[in-house]
Amino acid sequence: MSVPSGLPGTFSFELYPPRTPGSEVALYKALDFLVAARPEFVSVTYGANGSSREPSLAVLRRLLANTGVQSMAHLTCVGSSYAEASRLIREFLDAGVTSFLALRGDPPVGAVEGENFLGDIRSAGELVQLIHRVQQERAPFSQRAIPGFPGARRLSSGEKVTIAVAAFPNGHPRSRSIEQDLDTLLAKEAAGANLAISQLFFHADEYLRFVDQARAAGVTMRILPGIMPVLSPQRLRRILELTDEPMPVELLHALESAGSPEAQATVGIDHATALARELLDGGARGLHLYTFNQHEPVLAVLRGVGLLDRQKEPA
Ligand code: FAD
Repeated sequence: MSVPSGLPGTFSFELYPPRTPGSEVALYKALDFLVAARPEFVSVTYGANGSSREPSLAVLRRLLANTGVQSMAHLTCVGSSYAEASRLIREFLDAGVTSFLALRGDPPVGAVEGENFLGDIRSAGELVQLIHRVQQERAPFSQRAIPGFPGARRLSSGEKVTIAVAAFPNGHPRSRSIEQDLDTLLAKEAAGANLAISQLFFHADEYLRFVDQARAAGVTMRILPGIMPVLSPQRLRRILELTDEPMPVELLHALESAGSPEAQATVGIDHATALARELLDGGARGLHLYTFNQHEPVLAVLRGVGLLDRQKEPA
């Protein structure tokens, strides 16, 4: 599967696997709307230390069986041996997944690098290499039909997998400098990654500056900006706790001053829409939207920047 060119106007969505039967029903309802918008791909997160292996696979299987949308599996490797990680990759390939977001993942709270066993794979770059290796061992060659010659087959080298990696416009919390982040991203590309997806951020210049620095450092793969419409001050605080991103003070104040949940949602959607517009104007080759398993906010953002064809929305 080739890496999509990422023409301006493409977009993708991130989902997380449902944790309860109720949230499963809600997710699959939202998914109908998200798929109807014809995203470039839909990615499904993977719980820290493998905690969501089955539910993540279930969502991916559903996407693969019922939609034509490219389905991307997040995979984390912290705490895994080579054998365990290879087995996991094979399991996802067997399910038909050919797009991955390769992540190291966060060590369990309290675990100390160098003291506790944090797995054989020390970085996302090593996981990228492992995915390529497992894929090549599994299917070194495939047969393709020759158009116009019924029954004839041509041998071609194994299908290429799409391997995305994470990028951090404001720096990773464990990184010592922006140079270290750029070196890490370059190493991931050298290892065989062909797409980067950014951590969320709230100001367009943070992403645009990072992309300039990455290009100057030699990164050539596409770097998709990750955008999340944040619909309440509580959610904003929680997200920043999890990601260690700097607080967007103006957005926090605007969310706090909005009177009702509906008014807060409007603030969050308007903010994400303005951000998306600035990113596209600044040259971003696509948008990656963190959905929180809800379709309305992200579709409102796409509508706001003119990327949603009304005919693509379910009646
Ligand atoms: P790496 O690229 O290996 O490292 C990240 C950065 O940390 C590097 O830039 C490097 O500068 C620095 N670094 C790494 N190791 C060290 C070290 N020993 N000392 C100093 N600095 C170091 N997590 C999940 O559990 N499940 C998911 O599905 C998931 N999806 C994500 C999707 C996106 C788009 C993003 C941006 C993040 C996601 N995460 C997810 C979070 C991710 O697992 C964490 O951010 C993790 O800490 C880093 O993973 P990585 O793949 O970027 O690691």
